[in-house]
Parts: sequence; structure tokens; C-alpha cells
Amino acid sequence: MTDSPVSSGIARLTTRDADFDTRLSTLLAWEGVSDAQVQQRVDEILQAVRTRGDAALVEASNRFDRLSATGMEELTVTAPRLRQAFDGLPAEQREALASAAERIRLYHERQRPESWHYTEADGTVLGQQVTALDRAGIYVPGGKAAYPSSVLMNAIPAHVAGVREIIMVVPTPDGVLNELVLAAAHLAGVDRVFTVGGAQAVAALAYGTETVPRVDKIVGPGNIYVATAKRAVFGQVGIDMIAGPSEILVVSDGGTDPEWLAMDLFSQAEHDEDAQAILVSWDAEHLDAVEAAIDRLLPTLEREGIVRESLARRGALIQCAGREEAAALINRIAPEHLELSVANPEGWLPEIRHAGAIFMGRYTAEALGDYCAGPNHVLPTSGTARFSSPLGVYDFQKRSSIIHCSPEGASELGKVASTLARGESLTAHARSAEYRIKE
Ligand code: NAD
Repeated sequence: MTDSPVSSGIARLTTRDADFDTRLSTLLAWEGVSDAQVQQRVDEILQAVRTRGDAALVEASNRFDRLSATGMEELTVTAPRLRQAFDGLPAEQREALASAAERIRLYHERQRPESWHYTEADGTVLGQQVTALDRAGIYVPGGKAAYPSSVLMNAIPAHVAGVREIIMVVPTPDGVLNELVLAAAHLAGVDRVFTVGGAQAVAALAYGTETVPRVDKIVGPGNIYVATAKRAVFGQVGIDMIAGPSEILVVSDGGTDPEWLAMDLFSQAEHDEDAQAILVSWDAEHLDAVEAAIDRLLPTLEREGIVRESLARRGALIQCAGREEAAALINRIAPEHLELSVANPEGWLPEIRHAGAIFMGRYTAEALGDYCAGPNHVLPTSGTARFSSPLGVYDFQKRSSIIHCSPEGASELGKVASTLARGESLTAHARSAEYRIKE
């Protein structure tokens, strides 16, 4: 027996290593949504719910969530039950939930885009009209853990956007209803809740069943069955994104307490074994100190097993040459969460082109953003911050172009359109435009 803690097994890399590029690429690779067996099972579930509706939805829920429901009435939560859950919470939880909801609402209200138009000299008006979706479906994961914060993060932007009806689905393995999740649904303005999950819930939202109404867009994270199903129904309905495992990239200048940083890494790693936690610094002694803090604190964690597995599988402590190289690494990784644990984080912002959410300075733990800071915690994962953004009000809206020609405008535009249409041999187009040309 020895007193020294078991090493975490987290990878130590330096950008000087000859094989650094390859090792980093291997660490970042995520192919979770390509499993053929999962794909086949998901296809079967989607097909069953599409053709047999409620009956197939109930069967799949009984099978995968270990229930014994006989009909969808048993898998439907009424509005009074949601209110009862909220009223029944201990005061401290009720207040924390309400405070988080209020902050999330205030933040998202700033995202509301306005319709706009402008008038040209001849009286022609051009513009863009923003409208909300009629019906949004919110997937709240519930297999291994319950996520009341996800209810707020998905439903509040939909509400702020002006969505007419918000339908929520959440699995209840072994029939266990989470009171905080129901209370959050009440607070966030969810209209209807069904206690179904997995691919069968995605199918119900996409195709509609006798009980579950078909929605226009499905948002929210979930496991591989949920992600695979969302990808399959895209086109039939809109989706927000295909979420991979959660990730954090912390950049430290050496001035932050190593124990704080170790815990920040754990806070991602404890999500699941495939979650990714990476720390970058140019200070080798600091990296040693963080590694020692990781080894010291690991045995104190409730979810030690998951964290160890995640750190060993996909975690890394990376030593780079300096700030410039750190910034290049950020943009290459395009992390879901970026923590800038440095003296002057504002000075870094102009260099950062790809990151889902940026947590600035030593005091902004990513956990604060997960629950209550205000910005959304549904963020692009697996490098997709290169081309996408956090979930927001804009995800629940669409835009229509507005064109209103004056007679003079129609005449002038008609000449241009007619010439271009005849160049394409689309003579009906040309003649339609020409009718409106004034001699
Ligand atoms: P989940 O609700 O996504 O999945 C549970 C459902 O999966 C079950 O109801 C069941 O229908 C289905 N399922 C499970 N095993 C199956 C099988 N063998 N065959 C067919 N269907 C099966 O809940 P989860 O599993 O806890 O996963 C939640 C995921 O969401 C985690 O990866 C978590 O990290 C992630 N998450 C992400 C965020 C975020 O903001 N990015 C927030 C919360 C959770």
C-alpha cells in the first residue's frame, strides 16, 4: 500500500512532440453516430411509431424504460401536475429554479430579432418578416440522470421566440418522475409533457401519433439513440443539431489555483465516459500541479469511475509554446466550452474564431453557465462551433422575404428580369415580367 493517489491516466502532450498532431486528432475524433447496430434499431423504432402510432410508442417505452403502461394516458403529464411539482419543491430549490429561469429569459430576450424593411426611391418596399414556429418539440434527456436545467435552456428560448405550442418529452426509466424536471417545465411555459424518450419519442414528435402532436422542429440533447433518430427524421422536421459528448477546453496562464482547474475539468468529465476535458498551458510546472490536483481530488468525487474513464479515454494536459500557439489550438479544437483562465481574457477575444461558449477569467467556472448565468448551455460539440452557434431564440424562428413593388419599380425591375429570363430561355418568366413594364 502506498499513500500516493492512483494516477488518473490523463494524457500529457506537448506541442513539440513529433506525433502531436496525430495524437490530438485521435483524441478529438468522435464517430458516435455511425454505429450500424444502433442505426438499425433506431430505423425499426422510427418505422414502428410512424406506422402504428401510440401502440408502438407505448410498447417501446415499456421495453426500453422498463414500464408497464397500457396506454398513452399513463404517459401524459397534465398541466395541474406540473404546477403541483413546482409548488411542492423545497423553497430553496424553487427559488434557485426561478432565479435561473429569470436570468435565462432576460438573456434570451436580447436575442429576439426584429423584422425590418426599407423603401427604395420609386416606392418599392423590401424587407424581412420574422415569425415563430407553430409547434416545437423539446427532448429532455432522462436515461441516466435528470436535467431540469435542460428544460429551462430549451423551452425558454422557444417561449421568448413566440412559439405557439411547446411539447416536451422526457423518459422516465422505471417510472420515476423527476419533480424538478416537471417544475422546470411549469416555469418555462411548456404546454404539454409526455413521459417518453429515446428514438420512439423523436419519432412521435416527427410523425405525430394519436396522442402526441407532430411538431415543426425537435431540439435538445440526448444519447446515441436520440441523436441517431434526430438525424434520421431531419427533413420531415427541423432539428437544432446532432449533439456529441460534452467537452471543455481550459486555457490557463498558470495563475489559477490548480484545484479549481482540476474540478473544472471534472465537471465535464462527470457527464459521461466519452466526455472530453483538455487543459492547455505553456507553464510546465503548473501542468504538473494540475495533474497532482487531479490525482488528489479524484477519490473525493461521487462519479469517480465515470471521470477516471473519461480522462483516460479522451482527456489531455497539453503544454504549448505560448499564447499564440494556445490561440491556434483553440481555433483548431473549436470547443463546445472554452474557459480562458488567464489574466486578461478580453485581450484574447479577437483571436478566438471558433467556440460555443467562452468563459472569461479565473472566476467564471463553466458550471455557472450550465445552470444559471443566462446564456444557453445547449452548444455545438465535436468541432461544429466552426459553423454553428448556441441554441437560441433564432432557432425557433424563421424569416420570410418581403417584396412589394411599386408600378415604377415593377417596370424597371421587369426590364432586368425579362433580359435575364430570356437568357435562360424561360419565356413565361420573361412575359410575366414584361406585362408590368410601362411603355
Ligand atoms: P436519454 O434520454 O438521451 O436516453 C434514454 C433513452 O434511450 C431511453 O428512454 C431509451 O428509450 C433509449 N435507450 C436506451 N438504451 C436503449 C437501447 N438499448 N435500445 C433502444 N433505446 C435505448 O438519456 P441518457 O441516456 O441519460 O443520455 C443523455 C445524454 O445527453 C448524455 O450523453 C448527456 O451527457 C447528454 N446531455 C447533454 C446536454 C447538453 O447540453 N449538451 C445536457 C444534458 C445531457
